[in-house]
Amino acid sequence: MKLLRLGEKGQEKPAMMDANGQPRDLSAVIPDLAFEALSLESMARLRALDPESLPLLPQECRIGAALADTPNFHCIGLNYARHADETGMPRPTEPVVFTKATSCIGGPDDAITIPEGSVKTDWEVELGVIIGRNVFNITEAEALDTISAYCVINDVSERDHQLERGGQWVKGKSHPGFGPIGPWLVTADEVPDPQNLPLWLSINGEMQQQSSTSDMIFSIAEIIAYLSRHMILRVGDVIATGTPEGVGLGQTPPRFLRPGDEVRLGIEGLGEQHQTFISA
Ligand code: ZN
Repeated sequence: MKLLRLGEKGQEKPAMMDANGQPRDLSAVIPDLAFEALSLESMARLRALDPESLPLLPQECRIGAALADTPNFHCIGLNYARHADETGMPRPTEPVVFTKATSCIGGPDDAITIPEGSVKTDWEVELGVIIGRNVFNITEAEALDTISAYCVINDVSERDHQLERGGQWVKGKSHPGFGPIGPWLVTADEVPDPQNLPLWLSINGEMQQQSSTSDMIFSIAEIIAYLSRHMILRVGDVIATGTPEGVGLGQTPPRFLRPGDEVRLGIEGLGEQHQTFISA
């Protein structure tokens, strides 16, 4: 089942794709793709609906962020072996945990503003995981059963703010628009092996990142169990599970985004995003 949000910013309606790939309006069934609507129970109820019984939505609508009112946007850094190597940092022995401000979440195809004065805005294609029940201190064996859906995320990052200004990474990760999520959520039942998904990102048609979730250092199950030992994970929380090699910071010389750059990214079975980067 593919779930998405359609409409102008702030006016999005929740929707599901029918068998013909046409969006059907869910707004009479759930208030939005947020909170309890993202629980495992809610997913089971939505799956039982006949999409043909729901009103069609116009397909030419803007696609909004696939989530609304996200409680937490957790992220894992340096989680692909070859990406850790390209940054010159040691491969981590425990998951590197940081957050993005939830206010950075945007639609998958929205233009993204390069922050004023920024010369180090970078890209990171990532597999996103949506938590489907509140959990604390769970085992790896239980972890995958807490996931309600998967999605594509671009963890857009300003490297100067992230790495050269002291303090935590959150400053370089949270500018408005730096967290496109979508085009849709794909429910976990349709992703039998999340550790074997090809993912890629190109700029102006030139491939930059091309890898597989099989290169993760810490598996998705390890990440969820690890986070749950330190905090309650809540229904609707999203976890960005790290990016593979091929970011701008890792290139020789480093390459960063400029106004007019067209970024495309995708994960097999989870859809594609397209962003134009623009000046402030
Ligand atoms: Zn990242």
